[in-house]
Amino acid sequence: MTVVTYVTDASLAQLARRLRQLGFDVQVHRGARLEELLESASRDGRTVLTRSTRHPKKWAAVPVLRVAGDTAHGVRTVTAYGEPSGPPLGRCSHCNAALRSRSAFEAHGEVPGRVARRGGPLFSCPDCGQWFWLGSHTEQLRAWFETALGRPPEWPSAPTGPPVTRQMPQKGRPPGQ
Ligand SMILES: [Zn+2]
Repeated sequence: MTVVTYVTDASLAQLARRLRQLGFDVQVHRGARLEELLESASRDGRTVLTRSTRHPKKWAAVPVLRVAGDTAHGVRTVTAYGEPSGPPLGRCSHCNAALRSRSAFEAHGEVPGRVARRGGPLFSCPDCGQWFWLGSHTEQLRAWFETALGRPPEWPSAPTGPPVTRQMPQKGRPPGQ
């Protein structure tokens, strides 16, 4: 399978979020019409992800992947169609930017102290400023994908150490939220 990147609209925002968590590059254009998505996909070499069954002739050359059903069904459709462009949890689930690896020193004041002290990878989004780390929330997410896909997803291993609860500071949000 080859790497496929996508563009979609806000009606598939929840699916886009799940796909980003798996490492897929998915742009969301809020309020865009199908024609606008097709034009954007044509310009950027992306595939349009849509529920629409229309495919205007003018854009016949632009690849379109149709999804139906719930978010889990959409995840199965997309993972069967192409490869993600990066590793799981490597993109910001909110804005699609590739996450940056950060040190515990840089994370001071941005993540709970126990998360920084525990060690393990810390990431932040260069676009929206969200911080991400592995913990019980990402384990729940991994379990969701295992159910949705019917097999364990490729997944980064969580750091050993005291478990991290779901209680998050205002600034930090785990990938699953
Ligand atoms: Zn972001």
